[in-house]
Amino acid sequence: MEDNIFLKIIRKEIPKDFLYEDDEILAFNDIHPIAPVHVLIIPTKPIPSIAHMEENDAEIVGKMFWVAQKIARDLKISEKGYKLLIRVGRDGGQEVPHLHLHLIGGARLREDIRPA
Ligand code: AMP
Repeated sequence: MEDNIFLKIIRKEIPKDFLYEDDEILAFNDIHPIAPVHVLIIPTKPIPSIAHMEENDAEIVGKMFWVAQKIARDLKISEKGYKLLIRVGRDGGQEVPHLHLHLIGGARLREDIRPA
């Protein structure tokens, strides 16, 4: 599997402050935030995208969502709401080939997912 920036973060080669960290999941702020809250939640297991998910990854993917809602509550955006986004592959606009869930909020968000 080819190396990428998130694998380097998992290997702690790039220093990050984690909003959540355990053996299976890491969460950290997006380096180019598009909203006041923009957190990335990633599995430590090298799953390139949702399209590469296997049946026994279902638990870890579910846990990514659990971590997202926990961070949203910690950051006090839960009541007003937020968006959770997973890009998949080229048409989905995925840039980093390691599965990641975006938690985006802290402001009223536009709908912007129509074809380019
Ligand atoms: P996607 O387009 O869904 O693949 O999202 C990749 C995200 O990773 C983008 O929002 C980038 O800003 C973010 N990103 C890339 N490199 C880093 C980094 N070193 N630390 C934090 N976020 C990053």
